[in-house]
Order: sequence, then structure tokens, then C-alpha cells
Amino acid sequence: MTNLLPEMAEIWQKTLNWQPTLQQKGQFQKLYELILEGNRQLNLTRIVDPQEFWEKHLWDSLRGIAPLLSANFSPVSPTIIDIGTGAGFPGVPVAITVPNCTITLLDSTRKKITFIDNILSELALTNAKTLVDRAEEIGQHSQHRLAYDIALIRAVGAVSVCAEYTLPLLKQGGLAIIYRGNWTEDETVALKNAVNQLGGVIESIEQFTTPLSHSIRHCVYLRKVTTTPANFPRAVGVPTQKPL
Ligand code: SAM
Repeated sequence: MTNLLPEMAEIWQKTLNWQPTLQQKGQFQKLYELILEGNRQLNLTRIVDPQEFWEKHLWDSLRGIAPLLSANFSPVSPTIIDIGTGAGFPGVPVAITVPNCTITLLDSTRKKITFIDNILSELALTNAKTLVDRAEEIGQHSQHRLAYDIALIRAVGAVSVCAEYTLPLLKQGGLAIIYRGNWTEDETVALKNAVNQLGGVIESIEQFTTPLSHSIRHCVYLRKVTTTPANFPRAVGVPTQKPL
């Protein structure tokens, strides 16, 4: 098996109106190799085929932040947090692609964060830092609450749980980006209720098709429009046990 990632120049251009630089292509390739290597010891991902890795980890991570890749996006140097980053998705591809951002990669599992620390140093990514903690805890710390322009979250839990993890961390006017597979109208209703209680609104729900396997995906964009009440996020475990 060859472990070379495909280039996909045309698809990057057509779908995101964006092209990786030579340096970014090198970092994507190195990231892929480090994950294959890390997979031997840690259960990081089942996605190891180069095409599948490109689509499900690289392209999917960047599709969610499409608004940031467009030139007229503000703020100029966004502060971002990736909640439950796991093996570094979507946060590491975002750190590679948006060099002017500062990104915090959060996970509650220390061994995953130790693995990411090595990735950051191997890829010389100085705009990313890691944190071992829980979203429910840092949402109540003054250092993190109201501290971020953008909060990313992929494959961490039910959508109202994702809303409760992300919205307290955002500055007023900040954006939460929730990556989803399928999406139903019932989820929109439940999410509206949760987001209302948390000081946010649903800005948009985008449906798209992935470029290689043509699977349906969704990205939910929440805008923080007012203060999140002090009791959110609730104590560790409560958001998942009693979702809003
Ligand atoms: N975001 C990555 C991705 O899409 O490939 C990883 C998803 S993995 C299924 C979920 C990750 O979220 C795990 O690494 C887990 O440790 C972390 N996690 C779950 N609940 C969390 C919480 N409350 N605070 C921080 N991390 C959490």
C-alpha cells in the first residue's frame, strides 16, 4: 500500500475555492504518516486508506471552516478551540490551514493529547496548543469562558450537548461549528430549544455531499448573541445524561 495522500487540487479549488501551499501539503502528508504510526499503539482512527483519510479527515475538517477560508472573514486573527479533538480533528488541519489563528486542542484523554503534542512539534505548528480537561470544567473557568471567537466540535455527542459545550466558551458574537453526519428536522427543534437557553441562535445548517464517497454531511453554525446563564455548562456528565 502506498501511503501518499492524493493531491486533489481541482477538488480543493472547486469545493472550497482554496489551494494548499507546498508547505501545507507537506504538513498534511506528515500528519497522515504520524497518525498511521500512532495507530500502532493507540486506537486513533479506523480511517487509514489515503483517499479516505483525505476526504474524511482533511477535507471534512476544512469544509466546516469554509467561511474562514474566504478572504473577507473577520476577525483577522481568530482564537479557536476544538472540543474533543481526539487524534486532532478538525483542529490540526485547521491549525495548518489558518496560520493566523490561535487554536486550543482540548480532549479529556491524556494519551491523545500527548500524541498531539508530538504532532505539533513534528509539524512545527506554533499556533496550536493542547489542553487535557473537560468541556464542562473549562466552560466555568474565567480563562476559557467567553474567550474564543470560534468553537469547533466533531463527533463528541448529541447536538444539544455540543451546544452546551461550545456556547459558554464563545465571546459575544462568536461562532460554534458543529460537524454532523445525518440531520433531521426533530434535531432542529431540539437544538433550537437548547440554543435559546444558552444565549445563542442557529445561524445556518448546511448540507453538503463529500467529494469522493458522495456521503451526506451537515454543519450547524450557532451564533452567540447574548450572555450564557452562569449555570451552563452544567457539572461533568450532566449535559450528556440530561441533554437540554
Ligand atoms: N473530534 C475527533 C474526530 O472527529 O475525529 C474525535 C472524536 S472522538 C469520537 C470524541 C473525543 O471527545 C474523544 O477523544 C473524547 O476523549 C473526547 N471527549 C468526550 N467528551 C468530552 C468532554 N466532555 N470534554 C473534553 N473531551 C471530551
